[in-house]
Amino acid sequence: MTKAATDAAPITLGELATMPVTRLKGVGERKAEGLAVVGVENLLDLLTYYPRRYVDRTNEARVRDLVVGEEALVLVTVQRATSRRTRGRPPKLLVTVDVTDGSGHLRVTFFNQAWRERQLRAGMNVALFGKLEIYAGRKQMTNPVVDLIGDRTGRIVPIYPQSEKAGLSTWEIGDWVGEALRRSQVRGLLDPVPGWVLDRFDLITRPEAFAGIHAPDSMAHRDVARRRLVLDELLRVQLALVQHKRHIERTTRGIAHRVAGPLVDAFVARLPFDLTGDQRSAIAEIEHDLAAPHPMHRLLQGDVGSGKTVVAVSTLLAAVQGGYQGAFMAPTEVLAEQHAQGIRELLLGVEVPDDGSTLFAARPVRVELLTNRVGAGDRRRILAGLAAGQVDLVIGTHALIQEGVEFRALGAVVIDEQHRFGVEQRAALRDKSAGGPEVEQSSETGARAARSRAARAERMVPDVLVMTATPIPRTAAMTVYGDLDVTVIRTLPAGRRPITTRWVRSDTDEEAMWDAVRGEVASGRQAYVVNPLIEESEKLEVRSAEETYARLEAGELAGLRLGLLHGRLGSADKEATMHQFREGRLDVLVATTVIEVGVDVPNATAMVVLDADRFGIAQLHQLRGRVGRGSERSWCYLVSRSDTPEAEARLGALVETTDGFALAEVDLELRGEGTIMGERQKGRSDLKLASLRRDREWVERAREVAFAIVDGEGGLEAHPDLLDEVALFLDEDDQEFLLKG
Ligand code: ADP
Ligand code: MG
Repeated sequence: MTKAATDAAPITLGELATMPVTRLKGVGERKAEGLAVVGVENLLDLLTYYPRRYVDRTNEARVRDLVVGEEALVLVTVQRATSRRTRGRPPKLLVTVDVTDGSGHLRVTFFNQAWRERQLRAGMNVALFGKLEIYAGRKQMTNPVVDLIGDRTGRIVPIYPQSEKAGLSTWEIGDWVGEALRRSQVRGLLDPVPGWVLDRFDLITRPEAFAGIHAPDSMAHRDVARRRLVLDELLRVQLALVQHKRHIERTTRGIAHRVAGPLVDAFVARLPFDLTGDQRSAIAEIEHDLAAPHPMHRLLQGDVGSGKTVVAVSTLLAAVQGGYQGAFMAPTEVLAEQHAQGIRELLLGVEVPDDGSTLFAARPVRVELLTNRVGAGDRRRILAGLAAGQVDLVIGTHALIQEGVEFRALGAVVIDEQHRFGVEQRAALRDKSAGGPEVEQSSETGARAARSRAARAERMVPDVLVMTATPIPRTAAMTVYGDLDVTVIRTLPAGRRPITTRWVRSDTDEEAMWDAVRGEVASGRQAYVVNPLIEESEKLEVRSAEETYARLEAGELAGLRLGLLHGRLGSADKEATMHQFREGRLDVLVATTVIEVGVDVPNATAMVVLDADRFGIAQLHQLRGRVGRGSERSWCYLVSRSDTPEAEARLGALVETTDGFALAEVDLELRGEGTIMGERQKGRSDLKLASLRRDREWVERAREVAFAIVDGEGGLEAHPDLLDEVALFLDEDDQEFLLKG
């Protein structure tokens, strides 16, 4: 780690990343291979390979003092380990390990963990965390947490993850980390985070933080170290996102739309209902963006049924009103078709007024649907209409971003994301900028023509509104969609009949449930029965749906008209069944999760989900959203005999609330952020310590700091070390915008 004298400046993370682990004493070829298995190739990887847990010796108990039924930590030496099969049915493999700490003896038993016999060899020092039992007159722990600690001393012993699998012991890793930290003390570790940030949040320095996370004096020391490193991780992510946001704002020219106008007013006036307060403020926020001269990039979050479509249409009409075009992109053809139909209905009788600038009188808004199902002739006609500016609104799938689709003056884009579009596709649509081909149309006169010519000349970027129906907790949204502004619709339109959710956990409950389903059908309504999710195989899932169908037809729902819907049916069969159900010619639809999105039958009032514990919260919430769409009261039955704490938490939450945002918080709590980060993980894999759930307030603080830095004197470029560090954690594509900043 000591090179030329000119290198005497403190070491950066970037430099650490160029130093292979083999520079350390005791790391040869073989150990380096083991480290590579756990993703550690250089000293930066090593220093950010954080302990999974800590054994806190200050909490250590003596075996002699353990209390039955209470959890405790003991440090013991293994005497012997043996294994045998038990006689019960099914037989289990039982590993028995005798241990002692000098004050007393303890027997530890493990069920079906054969490898424990090899792991726990006589003479080894281990930390056990578990509950004391007395079995056959002996002190015993069953399946305790085991940490191998070697001959580590010190009050707090760090335990590194997955060390056994890669043939690495936690104390070896601890030694290497210690050596890396000691050797970097010569030049010191650079701390690129401005001092005011550390002062403001009372944070320790970076070198202190690395020392404290790997070799804390106390758990409190570990906590302050963790806090500092969490801020660093979150700050890097937020700096990248905020820089990206500002970059787009600076480098693109948007359209200053004329938001107050007759078309939007006419649309709102003709709606058969009053807008909700949330819809009104969403529209106001969006209009503020639309009127500004830089392009909008806004996320509109709202639960299913919260009325996002109206907000989307008003956005698009604001563009049309000023002589531009609007595009609406849906994730599937079915949804595009549904939206096209719904939007045409909303626009019935709404006319583009004659503003005196064209030769034409008031005319209907021209709406077209463009998907891959549209025939060649229609397609040509629609494309020509788009290029000429005669089509006001186009609704479609990703077909909209294909080659050959040109707009004369695209002013606003709505993307109904439903988690299915990637960032790239969004960018592709944005890049279909307001400019179209340079064709002069002599019939076009007045303001409209002037505006579209101006747009063509400057290639202005349309405003973009992304909609998602999957509620995301605020801090997660800040991280996943941090380059967008966020608007939330929280309240549903008034007058919705509530959905009552029941957790069906016994035979008696289940009988009552089928009675209730028959009762709904008897009063002319319909029901869904969703089959267990079988993740391993669609084939098994289909078979189980068929079995349920046969069982219900012969038993609980005999005499009713049942339909079966699953993913292996051809699309014609699927449509035929859906059509029958929609027409009321089927009473009950037995289905797999194919009905999760887009199915809208207001007469359906009962939803039965079998083996509900196999579904995630978000999925159950979406399934439940298939009922409660009409004017009648609806019911959702979650059938599950599971009584694990996990099932208790998940199903309990669904019974408790129908608020998608509250459920999203519970989900984040239970599952962690991995699932939410999902597709937008790219370039955000730096979150090793930070948790969007536990560290909620730090996400907000990091974002605030990121804005202060990016918008501050000289921008992020005024902090070159910090800039380098942000770039270090991004892949090349993302770096490009950062450095162009
Ligand atoms: P989302 O797209 O958010 O799932 P939609 O826009 O499809 O929801 O709206 C769901 C239903 O509620 C539609 O039938 C729509 O016409 C209706 N709706 C929308 N806004 C209101 C409102 N303010 N009052 C009453 N009904 C509304
Ligand atoms: Mg919708």
